[in-house]
Amino acid sequence: METPPNEVFRDSIGTINEEGKRNWIYPKKPSGPYYEKRKIVSYVLLAFLFVAPFIKINGNQFLLFNVLERRFNIFGFPFWPQDFHLFVISMIIGVVFITLFTVGFGRVFCGWICPQTIFMEMVFRRIEYWIDGDRNKQRRLARQKWDAEKIRKRLSKWFIFLAVSFLIANIFLAYLIGSDKLLRYITDSPSEHIGTLIPLVIFTGVFYFVFAWFREQVCIIACPYGRLQGVLLDNKSIVVAYDHKRGERENGRKKFRKNEDRKALGYGDCIDCLQCVHVCPTGIDIRNGTQLECVNCTACIDECDHIMESINLPKGLIRYASEENIEKKAPFKLTARMKGYIAVLVILIGVLAGMLALRNDVEARILRLPGQLYERKDNNVISNVFTYKVVNKTTDTIEDVSFKLRGMGGEIKLVSISDTFIVEPQGIAEGTMFIELKQSDLSGDKNKLRIDVYSNDELIETTTVNFLGPRSYN
Ligand code: SF4
Ligand code: SF4
Repeated sequence: METPPNEVFRDSIGTINEEGKRNWIYPKKPSGPYYEKRKIVSYVLLAFLFVAPFIKINGNQFLLFNVLERRFNIFGFPFWPQDFHLFVISMIIGVVFITLFTVGFGRVFCGWICPQTIFMEMVFRRIEYWIDGDRNKQRRLARQKWDAEKIRKRLSKWFIFLAVSFLIANIFLAYLIGSDKLLRYITDSPSEHIGTLIPLVIFTGVFYFVFAWFREQVCIIACPYGRLQGVLLDNKSIVVAYDHKRGERENGRKKFRKNEDRKALGYGDCIDCLQCVHVCPTGIDIRNGTQLECVNCTACIDECDHIMESINLPKGLIRYASEENIEKKAPFKLTARMKGYIAVLVILIGVLAGMLALRNDVEARILRLPGQLYERKDNNVISNVFTYKVVNKTTDTIEDVSFKLRGMGGEIKLVSISDTFIVEPQGIAEGTMFIELKQSDLSGDKNKLRIDVYSNDELIETTTVNFLGPRSYN
């Protein structure tokens, strides 16, 4: 296709002007069926985001990402540092799933699900429209001198933005430290939890900065997922696309004129009204093709459909379509690449399901005390010293825990006043113990022993240790 004379191509991002300064975007308020559906999806997701840290399943927070204590709950399922391999596989599954989805449907995640887009477009931008008005009013207000109206509007907007940022920071903390802790900290005096108050203030500042000033720059220059689009998309991926064949035809775009047969004159259906550009929150012209700034928010689809309706042309000049669909009218079908990702995903999910089925609620580790060999005691008894750690991944207390040697005589002595101990819910019990064996029972200088862990005489875990003896008994 020949390049239309009025086509403009860029070699810099859309929000930077020729002097290298930021082009502030004042997008027109979107309206239309897609926007209405996105509002519903966003409100459901926002409700989920705010409620999820307060939902408990079997006493476990539904979603928890406690990086400091290395404890993670996903859908109420707790992952411990000992389960790190499970956590890694879950994350890989997430990445493969998003990759598969991106190869098939482009940045649909960015437009509909990403918290950045939802907070920016459905929370902060809507507050801005409410206070400052639509695009033209915002532009006028920005140029206006600092009179009473501008001061009032700016102060109220900044105050509300700060309050919402503070609320988001609290929810963010509930995911990081747990909702129970957060609620306790809220009811206590702030001075008692300065260590938490400082991150809360920092998070509030970061959210305020992102949503009040940095905005679409997150998607354009900071988000790694956005930068990956270039390698993930191909001409079969479904993205928000301008149908250049229909929009341009042989003679390109032309302003609308009543009673003119555009088709017969060879002009495309695009009437160059620029409404799709004015509504774009990343400030691009989708008619220039798929661009890195496009977050697939669908605002330009709605806007162009309004225009097409008003001039009695079919809707869908901008729509969800692949390059191949626009060029050859080819329907969507699974490509070899997508089938490959699906196969990998199925295998990974199978591996994760198997690992989860084999996972123990209790984990015991018994390790030799570093630097210690063995000690010879009376009556030809050889003693080794170990440290033990028993992890309770459940929300119940494990009581009366003891260790027993499997299949051989000998004794296990805990360095404690009692022979048994308890492990608190989601807690760890640690200590030191001696294992004493008769020299005659040893088969060499290195002996593998099996140790059973019991709770109230019920076997709950088995582990192994290496027991050292004198070399002469090899
Ligand atoms: S809104 Fe539609 S008709 Fe108007 S410029 Fe954009 S693509 Fe062309
Ligand atoms: S080009 Fe369209 S879909 Fe892409 S960001 Fe702009 S308005 Fe949203």
